[in-house]
Amino acid sequence: MLQTAQIIQIKPQDNVAVAVHDLPAGTEVCPGLVTREPIPQAHKIALQPIPAGGAILRYGVALGYAKADIAPGSWINEHMLDLPESPALTDLPYGTHLVPVEELPRPTRTTWMGYRNKTGPAGTRNLLGIVTTVQCAAGVLKVAVERIKRELLPKYPHVDGVVAVTHPYGCGVAINAPLAKIPIRAVTNLIRHPNFGGEIMVVGLGCEKLTYDRVLPPEDITPENVLTLQDYPGHDAMMQAILDMADKKLQKLEQRRREELPLSELVIGMQCGGSDAFSGITANPSAGYAADMLVRGGGTVLFSEVTEVRDGVPMLAARCVDAATRDRLAEEMQWYDDYLAAGGVDRDANPTPGNKKGGLANIVEKAMGSIAKSGTSPIVEVLSPAEKPTKHGLIYAATPASDIVCGPSQLASGIGLQVFMTGRGTPYGLEVAPVIKVCSRTEMKQHWFDLIDISAGEVATGEKTIADVGTEIFEMILDVASGTRQPYSDQYGFHNDLCIFNPAPIT
Ligand code: CA
Repeated sequence: MLQTAQIIQIKPQDNVAVAVHDLPAGTEVCPGLVTREPIPQAHKIALQPIPAGGAILRYGVALGYAKADIAPGSWINEHMLDLPESPALTDLPYGTHLVPVEELPRPTRTTWMGYRNKTGPAGTRNLLGIVTTVQCAAGVLKVAVERIKRELLPKYPHVDGVVAVTHPYGCGVAINAPLAKIPIRAVTNLIRHPNFGGEIMVVGLGCEKLTYDRVLPPEDITPENVLTLQDYPGHDAMMQAILDMADKKLQKLEQRRREELPLSELVIGMQCGGSDAFSGITANPSAGYAADMLVRGGGTVLFSEVTEVRDGVPMLAARCVDAATRDRLAEEMQWYDDYLAAGGVDRDANPTPGNKKGGLANIVEKAMGSIAKSGTSPIVEVLSPAEKPTKHGLIYAATPASDIVCGPSQLASGIGLQVFMTGRGTPYGLEVAPVIKVCSRTEMKQHWFDLIDISAGEVATGEKTIADVGTEIFEMILDVASGTRQPYSDQYGFHNDLCIFNPAPIT
């Protein structure tokens, strides 16, 4: 990596670099190279002459092909390059780039304080989770949860909170469509989220398509666990029934205590949103360093967002531990290619106006930065949306990249915490599991000083290394998971709605 006070070039073969700050025209950014025009912060500057049709290289990868001749010192914006083809999904390598576990960075701590569960990973919080089978019940449940928090929760000091898990699924949907298995699996697994301690509380309306037997085994469909609004005569009876059921669940949750646990009991997710061209240099590689520390310590890390890894599939395939994992990766990519094609778009429908303002020319550039949050560990398993992992280590969990869809998918997979990288800034948070937000630029942290938990911006200015910020993220993961620190989103109660991924038809 070539880094001056003004620019960062990632790989020696790159013919572009990224501006560390806004650069006026006429700035000498390195010996012999002067900006021909103003270059906005995080945007690309041509280091060499690039002929029309020539590859524009960043991360050592062709982001695209120049539409016209580009002179050294020029600003390269999103209008100046054509998108390359997606990498093929056949003949992908596997196991050709496996970093041995002993070469991963050593974790600074090997235990944390969590709530052990009978099965699956431990919880990072002790919550009463009340899950709806249909959006029709959401209004009642939200009011009921406010009353539970006010009238019951103060009696149970060892319970951290009460969460209404509401979502848009459940009725008005083609429930028998093959792809309905994805949202049904999401609701099923959310009911069993590790932070709910195995206590099941499901509220339905009574006439919806998502019946209890689709999300619960027969032995769990009991009057203690499920409550149907249409069974109750009017408002007061309905509310009282919910409060009575919640009170019994809270009594059980009150018995739970944190205990010292190995990292193998911790599952976290990585996500990014509102990325910029610094995300791939600062925040995402730092998160990747923390991911590597967790994996070395026996923990489990999920990364997702199909459109944001699609262009890096050959690199990810090379990190798959075996052919079966590589094949599952290709399968999930192909499924998503077809899903996008059916909607008349491709992967480049992903970048936002904010991403482009932040210097990301297209999805290839966004993907190269996004992948960095997976660190360097081998990929041991690939999951379909909302599936639970069966292994420990780094896992690719296929989900849409949309922040509010990736969130619930990873929660359904059982994450106890999410680390969220941002360049542009988002107040994103999840109520079911804490979210640590890491920003890519120092200016972002100064602007949102009390909204962003960790700044990785100092990596761009050379004041900190990826290992410094990565270790800081790792430490905060363990503190937040152990309940000794609260990220800003939880301090303020900034929690997004859960939008469950439903690729099946709505009726
Ligand atoms: Ca996202």
